[in-house]
Amino acid sequence: MRRRLLLLSTTTGYQLRSFGDAATELGIELVFATDRCHSLFDPWRDSAVPVRFHEERESIDAVLRVARQRPLDGVLAVGDRPVVLAAQIAAALGLPGNPPDSARASAHKRLTRERLARAGLPVPWHTPIKAGEDPARIAANVVYPAVVKPVGLSGSRGVIRVNDRRELVSALQRVSTLVTRTEIRGQRTGSEQDLLIEGFIEGREYAIEGLLTRGRFRPLALFDKPDPLDGPFFEETLYVTPSALPAGAQQHIFKAVERAAAALGLWHGPIHAECRTNGDDVFVLEVAARPIGGLCSKVLRFDDGGGADSERTEGRRSLEYLLVRHALGEDVSNMARESSAAAVMMIPIPRRGIYRRVDGEHDAGAVRYVEDVRITAKRDQLLEPLPEAGSYLGFIFARAPRREDADAAVREAHARLTFIVDPAIDVMVNP
Ligand code: ADP
Repeated sequence: MRRRLLLLSTTTGYQLRSFGDAATELGIELVFATDRCHSLFDPWRDSAVPVRFHEERESIDAVLRVARQRPLDGVLAVGDRPVVLAAQIAAALGLPGNPPDSARASAHKRLTRERLARAGLPVPWHTPIKAGEDPARIAANVVYPAVVKPVGLSGSRGVIRVNDRRELVSALQRVSTLVTRTEIRGQRTGSEQDLLIEGFIEGREYAIEGLLTRGRFRPLALFDKPDPLDGPFFEETLYVTPSALPAGAQQHIFKAVERAAAALGLWHGPIHAECRTNGDDVFVLEVAARPIGGLCSKVLRFDDGGGADSERTEGRRSLEYLLVRHALGEDVSNMARESSAAAVMMIPIPRRGIYRRVDGEHDAGAVRYVEDVRITAKRDQLLEPLPEAGSYLGFIFARAPRREDADAAVREAHARLTFIVDPAIDVMVNP
């Protein structure tokens, strides 16, 4: 009998295709559950189970009905929104996963802070406030610099550093306006109006990709974010692995992530964590109960135990391949990240406007060690930078023997690109 894996997601695109490829190779069946528009007749031809992430009971029932006909052997969530539903479905089916309240806390910035603090882990001071609330109540207690953020958004949306009271008031207004957007209210998580103000943590930032197997943590990759992220907005641009940190400091970070995942109660499945450190203390900002998102996952490749020949390019496995096997209960401990260095640049949005085209793509792709340049912005699309929006224009990938070369290659490729962005006309005035 073919084994079956349930994949919950909000998107289509590269990562789902990569899961599809892994499933074909492993001879297993993927069952998709998504909340994309179902008024069209199965437009993606994947017979996805329609779910709504804010209607949990109905969505669980819909999946359980399908599972009775087509029994499921594992559950995976891709992206932030599906993690709670994935946890609930795993629990209902008796499959290994995360306790639902842990999944919920991992996706909620205030609950994350509370759980980490309760476990005695380093956490910045923090105080909740509602969108639109008069800051007078809390302003006297804010120590600068501080950070204002919505608790339920991701990708650094609405995250703003403030250095004094005037900046605090203006950031709160800006974020309060952001969370009134229809598309954000429409998520109906119940916490769209909840903001957090917390202490700014000085230091450098790292991202950790890892795996929990019935409570046991295993790091898969540590990414340096070589450019300082000091605000006022926090656009991630560059991930480089392996880390330049000495082994001891890396272990320190892994230990901190392991403790934070345990404090949240996460138990089984992929995790993606972000932390900042300025020496002894490692502040874990978040542990998401999902893998690194979208195209970015392409930066990771794994040897699957068939001999770690660093010259070999054939036979490398994707993160998705590893995750499918893990979700089906297989032992993936012999799969380790390849030995070469890798970097991905998430191409930042230079300014608000209408994207027309990019010049220099061919030259960028010709830079030594650059593996791929993917422009994902669509012609005539409105580009909006952080803190309001912030998707990326695209991605540049490099693989090289040394991390310095991978890092330099993506920067060089980026320097060869010219983005043509026209001013956006916000209001049409009748003559
Ligand atoms: P999101 O889930 O939207 O990415 P985070 O809380 O992880 O939100 O914040 C996004 C980024 O903002 C972080 O990666 C970091 O660069 C910066 N940041 C957030 N909180 C702090 C803080 N307290 N101190 C310093 N930087 C912060």
